[in-house]
Amino acid sequence: ATPTSIMVGTGKGAERGILVRGGEALEGAHRLTTVVLDKTGTLTLGRPRVTDVVAADGLAEEELLRLAASAEKASEHPLGEAIVRAAGERGLALEEPEGFDAPTGRGVRAEVGGRSVLVGNRTLMEEHGVSEDGLAPRFEELSVEGKTPVLVAVDGRPVGLVAVADTVREEARKAVDALKGMGLGVVMLTGDNERTARAVARELGIERVHAGVLPGEKEGEIRGLQARGEVVAMVGDGINDAPALARADVGVAIGTGTDVAMEAADLTLVSGDVRGVARAIKLSRATIRNIR
Ligand code: ADP
Ligand code: MG
Repeated sequence: ATPTSIMVGTGKGAERGILVRGGEALEGAHRLTTVVLDKTGTLTLGRPRVTDVVAADGLAEEELLRLAASAEKASEHPLGEAIVRAAGERGLALEEPEGFDAPTGRGVRAEVGGRSVLVGNRTLMEEHGVSEDGLAPRFEELSVEGKTPVLVAVDGRPVGLVAVADTVREEARKAVDALKGMGLGVVMLTGDNERTARAVARELGIERVHAGVLPGEKEGEIRGLQARGEVVAMVGDGINDAPALARADVGVAIGTGTDVAMEAADLTLVSGDVRGVARAIKLSRATIRNIR
C-alpha cells in the first residue's frame, strides 16, 4: 500500500468526522463482511429515562421507586442513574445505601434502611432465589415495547418493576440501511434482554441479535463470528466494549462515548454519527482502489 493513498484517505476521513488511527484500518475495512453494533449508547442515545413504575405486593409506587433509587444511588450504570434521576424529579428523599454491590451486567444489591434491596435483571433475581411471581406478564409487555424492565426485590420478595427506555438515534436506521445496501451483515450486540433487544432491532431493520451478553463476553462473541470466517467491525461506546473493539478486525468507537473505547478503536466517529461506519468502509474501498 502506498503511504500517499493512506494519507489522502486519512485526510478525507478527518473531513467526514472519521478519525483514523494507523493505516491498517483503512486498508482492512474493505474486507469486512459483518458490522456488529452495540445497542446502548451506539444505536440509542445512551440516556435512558424511567417510563413505568409497577408496584406489587401492596407497596406504594413512590416507595418502590424510593427504595430502588436508594439502592442505585452509588451506581454508575445509565440504568441506575435514570432511576435515581426519576426519584429526584418526584422529590423523593433517598436513603444512604450500605453494602452496595454491582455485579456486572445484572444490577445492584444494597441494604436500604435495614432492608435488603435488589434491582436488576432475571439473572440477578435467580442468583438470589427470588421468583418473579406475578410480575412476568408485565415484564414481557414492557420488553415488547422496547423498554428495559428491571425487577425490584425487598428482603427476598419481588415488589415491582421499573421500566427504563432509551431513545433510538435518529440516524441509526439510515446507518443500518446503508450497511445492508453495501452487502454487509449487520448484528446487534447487547447485554439487554432478548425481547427488548428484538423490539429495538425491528425498529432499525436488524435481524441478527445477540442479546443477554455479559460485558466480559462481548469479545468472545466477536471471536465466534471470526471463527466462522466473518471479517468483523465492532462499533461501540462503552468501557465494556473496549476488549471487543480491540478484538475486531476493525474497531470503531463512538466519539461521544468513553475515552477507553476510543483508545481501543482503530476508527473514531467524532460526532457520534453511526452513519460514519458506512462512510469509513466506502472510504476504505476507494483508498484500496487508488492503491491498486
Ligand atoms: P448494555 O450492554 O446494553 O449496555 P449491560 O451489560 O450494562 O447492558 O447490562 C445488562 C443488563 O443488566 C441490563 O439490561 C439490566 O437488566 C441489568 N443491569 C445492569 N446494571 C444495572 C443497574 N445498575 N440497575 C439495574 N439493572 C442493571
Ligand atoms: Mg453501550
